Amino acid sequence: MQARSAEQRREALVELYREASRCTRCPLHQGRTKVVFGAGNADADLMFVGEAPGRDEDLQGLPFVGRAGKLLDQLLEEVGLDRGDVFITNVLKSRPPGNRDPEPAEIDACKPYLHKQVELIEPRVICTLGHFSTKLLTRSQRGITSVHGRPQVHELGARAVRVYPIYHPAAALRSTKTLEELREDFHRLPELLEEPPPVPIGAVAPVPVAAAPEPPQINLFD
Ligand code: URA
Repeated sequence: MQARSAEQRREALVELYREASRCTRCPLHQGRTKVVFGAGNADADLMFVGEAPGRDEDLQGLPFVGRAGKLLDQLLEEVGLDRGDVFITNVLKSRPPGNRDPEPAEIDACKPYLHKQVELIEPRVICTLGHFSTKLLTRSQRGITSVHGRPQVHELGARAVRVYPIYHPAAALRSTKTLEELREDFHRLPELLEEPPPVPIGAVAPVPVAAAPEPPQINLFD
């Protein structure tokens, strides 16, 4: 397939947003005020994926605008970034009633939106916030406690992407230890963004070309 320009990908993302705002794939559409599609830079190198909108997000139609969002803003600032540099979204685009956990059928119904977002934004690093996005994007049942802070390479949207699981900011608001670990993991993001694009799974990594050995005569001229 021919590569699309950033502008073409942005337009396709806007179209996907329109589709999501009319979506009735799961019963959550009945209770939502606004769809929370995600917001930020449509060509971002760094994408954050949370769990699901809460009350404030549902009212405003924007991700992470409550207390957890304020912490996310603060952490972004600490590493020299802001919301305009990144794209922030969730596994679910509609609010579960009473902020309960997402159900498997809801995750299944909503995941094509997230996969399409990843395909269109083409991030280098996807930072998964907490259990639900980590399990979905790493396709593993391993919980956040054992995988946080360890980047993994996954094939997503036909590209190899670094998935970087970290604690959900809401969990860090409940525990000082979790906040410390979240901050430590978060501060590794700039370094991760500097890494060269990951080698696609199954591809053979380029072998560094060894310098040609010096001819034996070289030392004769010392
Ligand atoms: N928690 C999330 O996972 N997402 C939001 O958008 C807000 C809080």
